[in-house]
Amino acid sequence: MGAKRSGAEFLEAGVSKFLMNWFQERDIACEYQEVAPGRANVLARRQGAVGSPTILLDAHQDTVPVDGMTISPFDPVVANGRVHGRGSCDVKGGMAAMLAAFSAIVRDSTATVVMACTCDEELGQLGVRHLTSSWSSNESKYQLLPSAPDFAIVAEPTDLNVVTSHKGTIRWALTTRGVSAHSSSPQQGENAIYHMARIVRLLRQYSLELSQRVAAHDPCGTASLSVGVIHGGTSVNIVPDHCEIQIDRRLLPGETPDDAEQDLQNWLRDQDVHPFTMIRIGCTGLPLSPTAASAIPATQLLTMIKRHQPKSKAIGVPFCTHASTYAAAGVPAVVFGPGSIRNAHSADESISIDEVRHAAAILEQFLNTDNVLQPESASA
Ligand SMILES: [Zn+2]
Repeated sequence: MGAKRSGAEFLEAGVSKFLMNWFQERDIACEYQEVAPGRANVLARRQGAVGSPTILLDAHQDTVPVDGMTISPFDPVVANGRVHGRGSCDVKGGMAAMLAAFSAIVRDSTATVVMACTCDEELGQLGVRHLTSSWSSNESKYQLLPSAPDFAIVAEPTDLNVVTSHKGTIRWALTTRGVSAHSSSPQQGENAIYHMARIVRLLRQYSLELSQRVAAHDPCGTASLSVGVIHGGTSVNIVPDHCEIQIDRRLLPGETPDDAEQDLQNWLRDQDVHPFTMIRIGCTGLPLSPTAASAIPATQLLTMIKRHQPKSKAIGVPFCTHASTYAAAGVPAVVFGPGSIRNAHSADESISIDEVRHAAAILEQFLNTDNVLQPESASA
C-alpha cells in the first residue's frame, strides 16, 4: 500500500497513455475507461474462435511512492542483468511479460485473451473493482470485456511460482473520546489517551492469542493484527478529548472481513473497555482460496513453468492481490509473475531481465495452448 498523494504526476495517466499508444501502434483493439479523475483502466483484446474461453491477464499500472529510495527511481538503469527503478519488480516486469505474450498471441492463437492494465492497485483497488462490478451492472460496460472471463492470471512478483492462496486485509480506525480540560486540573477532564492506552495493551494481547482463535492455514500461515498509527491530543497542556489508532488485520483464507470485525469488537467489549467507535478504512482485500475451477489452469500453468524453472510450485503468500477480487466476482484466478516480493516496494527495487523473459515465454505458451482450461491439454 502506498501513502496518499494527490496531483496528476502521482497517478497513472502517463502509463495509461503509453499503453494506449503501445496497443494502437500494433493495431490491437484497446479501450480506455476512466475510473476516477486522472485514473483509468486500459484494456486490450484478442478475439479468439467462437466458443473459446476468455482468459484475462491483469497487471496494475501504479507503483508505491519513491520516498527513501537509494537509487534514481525513474531512471531505469540496466546493470548485472537487472533493470533498476521504482515499479521494475512491482509490477512492470510482470506487465512487460504479459504484454510480450499478449502481442505474440495476437498473431497466432485461437484463444480469446483480454489484457487489463488496471489502476490504483496499491491503495484502493479502484480499477479492479470498477471492472468486476461492470459485469453485473448495466452502466460502465467495457466494450472489450462486457462480462466475466473464464480465468484470470494476475501479475505480481511470485518468483515464477503460482500463487493459489493468499491472505486478505481489513483495516480500522478505532477512536476513544474523553473530555478536555486544563492540564493543571486534569481531574476535571477525562483523558482519551488513557482510555486508548488500555485498548492498545489489550489489542497486543488479542494479537498474541489470534493463533488460538483462528487455525493456521497451510500454506498462508497465521492470522495477524498490528496497530500501526496512533494520534491523540492537541497540546501538552490540554487533557485530550480524542485519541485514534489504526489497526491492520490480515485475514486467512476461509475468514470473512465481517466475522473478523465482529470477533474483535465482541472481544474488546468483553474486556469492559471504555466505549469506542471502530470504522473500516482503506479498501478491504479478501483472502484468496484455491477452488476446483482454478485447480486445472493452475496445474497447466505450473506444468509450463516447470520447463523453465523445475523448482516452481503452487504456493500461498501473505500479501493481498487483485486475484481475490476476481475470485469474489466468480472468476477462478491465480497470481504469477517474475521477480521477488522482497524486491517490491524496496529502496533499490530491481528485477532480473532473464526472469521477465521466462515469464513471457511461459505465458505465451499457456495462451497458445488449445483448451488450456481443460485437464487433457496438460501434456500438450
Ligand atoms: Zn503489485
